[in-house]
Amino acid sequence: MAGNITFTMIKPDAVGNGYTGKIINDFIEGGFSIRAMKYIHLTKDQAGAFYAVHKERPFYNDLVEFMTSGPIVAAVLEKDNAVTDFRTLIGATNPAEAAEGTIRNKYAKSIDANAVHGSDSDENAQIEASFFFSAIERF
Ligand code: ATP
Ligand code: MG
Repeated sequence: MAGNITFTMIKPDAVGNGYTGKIINDFIEGGFSIRAMKYIHLTKDQAGAFYAVHKERPFYNDLVEFMTSGPIVAAVLEKDNAVTDFRTLIGATNPAEAAEGTIRNKYAKSIDANAVHGSDSDENAQIEASFFFSAIERF
């Protein structure tokens, strides 16, 4: 299935603001099928491990703090060209630069509280999906 799945999280800001249902609806209307989904409150160790790739970036500690500030919804989504099409659907990392109608344009307030995560490559989609879901949950 390489190339056909992406991994997403609805982040604590969006869950806390009551946007979970609207955002899941946007995933489906955007042509994505839900292959796995769970509601979870990450520990600092879990969020730190997930974002280990950003460990040296100045915003790493704030990112881990924010991602553990409340529950999230993690999901594996399927569609042709899933990674690229999903990043188009969610818009730019900074919601101020996100195109009109994108999920971050509609539901995000700031670059840290930016409503959703989307994988940045097919390889990372597989790694991130495996971080949250066992094989039996994904297939
Ligand atoms: P995500 O991985 O969450 O889908 P992204 O791929 O668009 O977002 P990354 O560069 O992977 O962006 O950064 C991961 C997350 O770190 C961003 O979603 C954002 O919340 C936070 N972040 C990125 N750059 C900054 C920054 N300059 N200041 C504060 N937070 C940032
Ligand atoms: Mg990223």
